[in-house]
Amino acid sequence: MAGDDPKELLFLCALQNAVKHGGVPQSGAVIGMVMGAHPELRSRAKEVSAFAKEAIADVAVLSPEERVTTLQTRAPGMFAALSEKHEHKKVLPDLEGAENGVVMRFAPNPSGPLHIGHARAAALNDAYIKQYGGRYILRIEDTDPKRVDPEAYEMVVEDLKWLGLGITDTVTQSDRLHLYYELCTQLIGRGGAYVCTCDNEQFKELKNKKIACPCRDQSVETNFVLWDKMLTHGFKEGEASVRIKTDLLHPDPAMRDFPAFRILDAPAHPKVIAHVYPLMNFSVVADDHLLGVTHVIRGKDHIANTRRQRYIYDHFGWKVPVYRHYGRMGIEGVVLSTSQMRLGINDGTYTGWDDIRLGTLRALARRGISPEAVRNAMLAIGIGDTDISFSWDNLYAENRKIVDPVANRYFFVADPVTIVIHAAPHLTTHALLHPADEKRGVRTLVFTGAVSIPAAELERKDRAMFRLKDLFNVTVERDRGRPHLTYAGDSLADARAAKAPIIQWLPVADQIPCTLRTQEGDIAGVCEPAVRSELGKVIQFERVGFVKIDAVNDSGIVAYYTHK
Ligand code: GLU
Repeated sequence: MAGDDPKELLFLCALQNAVKHGGVPQSGAVIGMVMGAHPELRSRAKEVSAFAKEAIADVAVLSPEERVTTLQTRAPGMFAALSEKHEHKKVLPDLEGAENGVVMRFAPNPSGPLHIGHARAAALNDAYIKQYGGRYILRIEDTDPKRVDPEAYEMVVEDLKWLGLGITDTVTQSDRLHLYYELCTQLIGRGGAYVCTCDNEQFKELKNKKIACPCRDQSVETNFVLWDKMLTHGFKEGEASVRIKTDLLHPDPAMRDFPAFRILDAPAHPKVIAHVYPLMNFSVVADDHLLGVTHVIRGKDHIANTRRQRYIYDHFGWKVPVYRHYGRMGIEGVVLSTSQMRLGINDGTYTGWDDIRLGTLRALARRGISPEAVRNAMLAIGIGDTDISFSWDNLYAENRKIVDPVANRYFFVADPVTIVIHAAPHLTTHALLHPADEKRGVRTLVFTGAVSIPAAELERKDRAMFRLKDLFNVTVERDRGRPHLTYAGDSLADARAAKAPIIQWLPVADQIPCTLRTQEGDIAGVCEPAVRSELGKVIQFERVGFVKIDAVNDSGIVAYYTHK
């Protein structure tokens, strides 16, 4: 902090606070800041509080621009600190009309568990609701029985819980069919929809020629009769649908009189007995309206639906929510298609929905990605409409920030070989559980003459010396190709001078088997027995990476690789 004059300090703190938050700072915040950095001022509390009042008054009279330039010139360091923070703070762009709070929704189809692609809409909605206050509705969109997996209802709820979102209400569309039927009746009454009994192909042909089908001009009374016939099983699947009246001259044929309800007899819906189902555009509009949704965040792939949906709003004379369409997000390296996942699970290719080769949230959880990291990565991606490819590295960087300070460190030796170190003293060494937190304590490793080290390290012919981490240096000689290892003192400086790599090792007498599961396959190895106490936690296998301890059993440890 610039200068030691308490008056100046208080002025600068008040100024920085005002630039950061806008408006006039609270004296408590300013005093707290100064006292925190200068504890010696605590004995002068009265004086400091008087200075704070003066400082705040001095800042209050400055215009926002003057505040910035004054801070820049009088305390460039404090100004810089501010912009650094701003850069890292992920503020989403404002949503119009959100000042008095928002009602937003996340509306997945229950066809499988949620994956990383879903996390974007889920997290963005959540952040906006937190920003503006309001309600967050989880709406399960299950009006297409062909795309419903009965187990997904629970999985979706679990996944959102894991993600840590502030859902306030949950609705399931199959519970609400009567509401959609009622609204359809109203819409027919308003002349905004009609029952179409044309053969699909025939309708398509007419539509492509911008010609109305014969059903379009039926009277409202006829439509009511036909609608009733649909609901009372008078038509079979494919024999009738309800269409929204749009613009037959619309340049995009997909906009012309699109369907709103259809008849489906198979497959049976797992939750309701139904014959007539709304199509997405109708049920989405009905619910966005009925639930008072104010803002909708969805992918660009929904832009055509947004256009279709406007016709329905217009027919009813309802207020249209504010829409934001974010760009496409390509995600590579994992399987995301629900049908492909299900197939692979059924034929044994994948162990389940949390197999780490899949892009599900449960797979991420299994390998030690924290929900906070997923949320932060999604907010960093934001709401922009440019198409992007999802960066795993950014997600890992977010996760590293979270796990690095808490993960204990241990040794893991991949593909181990056991080898004697000649002329070495037997000794006990201690390694920190966490390099930045000595208080956490140490692990004890006892060297009694032989160690296990990664086979790959021994195979390298260019190694004249290496250092066993936290132990000592070893020279490598080769006798007819066979490595011969000899103690070479414990000076770290010697190891550095010789550019000796530092490698992991484990005492032969004190190690347990550990299988490290990675997306590319399993790595067999050994680790410290103390890893047993870390079940369910993310730890770091030093120089290997972060891992999550998935199972501890008699035969050893199963760990999942998280990231470097
Ligand atoms: N259930 C649909 C989906 O997941 C609707 C989403 C929306 O209307 O934003 O694609």
